Amino acid sequence: MRFYTHLVAGLLVAIVLTELFSFPNTLVAVLLVLLGSILPDIDEQHSRLGKLFPLIPKLFTHRGFFHSVFLATAFTILLSLFAPSYALAFAAGFVTHLLLDAMTPAGVKPFWPSQVRLRGFIKTGGVLEGILFILLVGVVVWMLVSVG
Ligand SMILES: [Zn+2]
Repeated sequence: MRFYTHLVAGLLVAIVLTELFSFPNTLVAVLLVLLGSILPDIDEQHSRLGKLFPLIPKLFTHRGFFHSVFLATAFTILLSLFAPSYALAFAAGFVTHLLLDAMTPAGVKPFWPSQVRLRGFIKTGGVLEGILFILLVGVVVWMLVSVG
């Protein structure tokens, strides 16, 4: 999935999370969900994060280690040591990223290095992703208007 689809899905998850749970600082929680929702693509050389940290795409296969539940768990545990109130926010964003990528034909290997792959039929950058993006934007706008 594209950067913008991950970001709007992360925003939707952030809105839901901040309605369900009380965070010490709502903005920090939202930013951590958004960070988690885009961080896995740091392993892709053409992604925004991959361009910022060019060594990571050279060292790691795209949709390998950085798209695994093990890394999500490690980051979440690390974050919970320093800011336990926000670990859920980051984990939710990261898992959202994995779920969206699992909808694509390339899929993800959530238990990497296991080669078990979850995949779907929504081509990255294709028409269906465009429709999904528009639906997500619509739900986000609706949530922002109805939640206030
Ligand atoms: Zn990804």
